[in-house]
Amino acid sequence: MYADVIVDISFEKLDRIFQYGIPEHLKQQIKIGSQVEIPFGNGNRKIKGYIISFSETTQYPIEKIKELIGVVKNSTTIETRMIQLAWWLKETYGSTMNQALKTVVPVKKKIKGKEERYIKLKISKEAAEQQKKEWEKRNKAKAKLLAILIEEERVSYEVLTKEQHIAPATIRGVQEVGAIEIVSESIYRNPSVYQKEEVDYHFVLTSDQKRIADEFLTDYKNGVRKTYLLHGVTGSGKTEVYMEIIANVISMGKQAIVLIPEIALTYQTVHRFYKRFGNKVSILNSRMSQGERFDQFERAKKGEISIMIGPRSALFTPFSELGLIIIDEEHESSYKSENVPKYHARETAIELAKLTGSSVLLGSATPSIEAFYRAIQGEYKLFELKNRVNERAMPSVFVVDLREELKNGNKSMFSNQLKQLIWDRLNKKQQVLLFMNKRGYAGFVSCRSCGNPIRCPHCDVSLTAHNDGTLQCHYCGYQIPLPKSCPFCGSPYIAAFGTGTQKVEAAVKREFPTARVLRMDSDTTAGKDGHERILSVFSRREADILIGTQMIVKGHDFPFVTLVGVLAADMSLYANDYRASERTFQLLTQAAGRAGRGHLAGEVVIQTYSPQHYSIETAATQDYRKFYEKEILYRKLLGYPPVGDLLAILISSKDLEACEKMAELLKDTAEKYCVEYRILIIGPADATVSKIQDFYRKILYLKEGKSKSGNQLKKIKDILEVKTEQAQMEADVQVQFDFNPMNTY
Ligand code: ADP
Ligand code: ZN
Ligand code: ZN
Repeated sequence: MYADVIVDISFEKLDRIFQYGIPEHLKQQIKIGSQVEIPFGNGNRKIKGYIISFSETTQYPIEKIKELIGVVKNSTTIETRMIQLAWWLKETYGSTMNQALKTVVPVKKKIKGKEERYIKLKISKEAAEQQKKEWEKRNKAKAKLLAILIEEERVSYEVLTKEQHIAPATIRGVQEVGAIEIVSESIYRNPSVYQKEEVDYHFVLTSDQKRIADEFLTDYKNGVRKTYLLHGVTGSGKTEVYMEIIANVISMGKQAIVLIPEIALTYQTVHRFYKRFGNKVSILNSRMSQGERFDQFERAKKGEISIMIGPRSALFTPFSELGLIIIDEEHESSYKSENVPKYHARETAIELAKLTGSSVLLGSATPSIEAFYRAIQGEYKLFELKNRVNERAMPSVFVVDLREELKNGNKSMFSNQLKQLIWDRLNKKQQVLLFMNKRGYAGFVSCRSCGNPIRCPHCDVSLTAHNDGTLQCHYCGYQIPLPKSCPFCGSPYIAAFGTGTQKVEAAVKREFPTARVLRMDSDTTAGKDGHERILSVFSRREADILIGTQMIVKGHDFPFVTLVGVLAADMSLYANDYRASERTFQLLTQAAGRAGRGHLAGEVVIQTYSPQHYSIETAATQDYRKFYEKEILYRKLLGYPPVGDLLAILISSKDLEACEKMAELLKDTAEKYCVEYRILIIGPADATVSKIQDFYRKILYLKEGKSKSGNQLKKIKDILEVKTEQAQMEADVQVQFDFNPMNTY
């Protein structure tokens, strides 16, 4: 038998299997997924690797085969199905096996758990009583310690020293005579603070909710495993449906993973799960340390919890009895990884479900075109919730044409209608959300004389003006003070254009001086609990108006918000991106969905320069189907996903010439296969941002107009990966693949 090993070095040329002999003494210790030490290269350098399979035979001369050295101490073992999943990630999205393994096993090393020390008696209570009496005169502190321990069986070291003010020397003294002992226990770093919630508190489902949960569970009990899409309007009670299904699935001894976009992973959502499931639940988030994540994965592995909630990386929770994966807000672009392999959590969940015999439930008020297309095709089962819970009305939406406002002499950023409605809410002591499309779009600063924008010297983008008087690059963090005159022509007339959240805040304060205003964007939410802090101030109604970007439209439930204003709805419409309309529709619908979630009815004002655009029209009427019909037609015409498949190849280098040369080389290589497979090549061209941190960026797209699985594209990708490795370039060039990207480059 030989062990097939992937070496733990991120270097493409080593991304293949190396075979090793298995010494007798290791035979019992190793299995698939073990992390092992191996001698490597001519010098037999000791490095690490993972065993991904065992073989009976080898193609190498037997005398050249080296032997494994040993198992890495304190390493964790990768389960077989995780290795299969890694293989699939590598094949589908393009990466080395090592990168793929690192993705599915994010915490590789065991990290020592935090320990808590407890003190308890080592002698009987009677004996302790005796000793206490003896000490009472000469040594009050020792007597006091015994008195405490007679009362309470075990007390933490911390409590004794900090609260009872017993000196460590005293504890040591008592320990030395053998009256007490100190025990260490590892405790989990549980990030949640909601541990003591009452358990199993839940609503009686509405008949609509119940119908869906029942249908799912009937399938489930009959052994049917598949993918479901729950399309439910905002406030239709999707989360309650998830919880009902989870409760039943875990009662069958199964475990569930619930993915929620990081940005919506707030107290409110998590709290609902804790209320129902208590400490069967654990959460992950990106602010947690490696150690904290490791602890939560350990608890999952040991079966101490049954539900893991988290962003896309929670998918890799090592449950042994996984039975269900739920993806809430399935359309969110944050489900696509920005790191290689650039996997999509939805597709990966479906693959993982196949490997584990689980079902997948996707949910959204604005499903991705991909998911809805597959539901229409019958690949997923579609559930619909068309009404809000408790007959709460959907909000009324008004579309305001900003061009008309300007014609009528209104130059402010608030249309007359929005102004009136805001005053109305302020008078009624109700709350308002004002939504901006993008942070600091305000952005860019240009010269009014020569028209030149001020750009980052390292990236191909303009700098953004901030309130503190600086100009900043949002790609690399480059920062300079706002210049007093134009660096190109010397003119003193330079100014910021557009509207950012900071400017909106200033305008709101001017227009509505009595209002209490909060702003939420990446500047104000920095720090560990930035988000929570602002949201809780707002939910306690200590502010009237909350201004924000994308962040404020995600999953929050503020019952006193009865007005949502979208200040400039078009900003996301004209990105040069085939998903621009979809994203605009989703944002507007989700933003509108924040209004009128309590007992009070809601209104929404969408201000736009393009009121006739279908994504704005259909968002205003909240007509998902109509939007879908228009959008899928356009995708069919142009062969974009989900009808076709798209492979983006990003080539980047500090050396422009090498970058161009590699791009041409890949294009030439792809060409002959593309003709054969009828795949369209677009580019190479400059990426939208053609330089980031001094790296030039070229982009090449391969489009397979009508494919089912992207198989041809995958083949070409493999060929290009090999070509990339073999190419001799005079400078470092990086090549990244992105299969069905969420954004264009
Ligand atoms: P969605 O996830 O579809 O936006 P939620 O699950 O957040 O909807 O539900 C919207 C609101 O309705 C929440 O405040 C929730 O507590 C409430 N709700 C959901 N289902 C019920 C029910 N069956 N009975 C009473 N209230 C419910
Ligand atoms: Zn100028
Ligand atoms: Zn920059």
